[in-house]
Amino acid sequence: MNRVFSMTLAAAVFSAGAFAQTPTPTPTPKPQEGDKPAATQTTKEKVTVVFLGNETCPVDAKAIDRDKWAEIDGQRIFVCSDGCIATVKKDAKAMLAKAYPSARPLDAKECGCGMAVDAAKATPITWQGYKVALCGDACVTEFKKSPVTMIALMTHPDAKDAKNTADPIDGKPIDPWVVVLYKNHLIHLGKFSNIAAFEKDPAAVAAKLKLSG
Ligand SMILES: [Zn+2]
Ligand SMILES: [Zn+2]
Repeated sequence: MNRVFSMTLAAAVFSAGAFAQTPTPTPTPKPQEGDKPAATQTTKEKVTVVFLGNETCPVDAKAIDRDKWAEIDGQRIFVCSDGCIATVKKDAKAMLAKAYPSARPLDAKECGCGMAVDAAKATPITWQGYKVALCGDACVTEFKKSPVTMIALMTHPDAKDAKNTADPIDGKPIDPWVVVLYKNHLIHLGKFSNIAAFEKDPAAVAAKLKLSG
């Protein structure tokens, strides 16, 4: 019904436009060899990495490697090298505070489950520099299992979770911290270094995961 309505509306707008101006015939250019299909891709078809961690190693202030980290209280401290993982583990609490010196409220209207959050009943969680308001205790359990997915769903309420359990690149189990957005889907990978292969041929990955739309 809606679709019919918008099509009618679009047609009406189009004819009004055509009426107002002398229509100029626009020759359709012949597709040339070497034309890149990328030119017709919408921004929705880009692979967007959902990375919510610290960008600088708390040990030596170097740029982090997203696949190197130490975990404490369900939060990851990303570091630059294996040596820094060892250093961080010696004093994880202090390193966590150094990696995330402050926490800012997450800009979200809904909980990750899609429910509106009643401020009076919300369960607050501070995680990797974000203050997250969840709708209740059930979602806290879910958040602890897959925090990045929950935050991605809160910040992209229209996105669908592909819920794949194996990395589409190498078939290994996924890491709950490695999430990308592609064609409005949340797709899970096993490690950040597999994203490059994903970006090379995202359509193949989408086909493999049988993504709709
Ligand atoms: Zn380091
Ligand atoms: Zn919820």
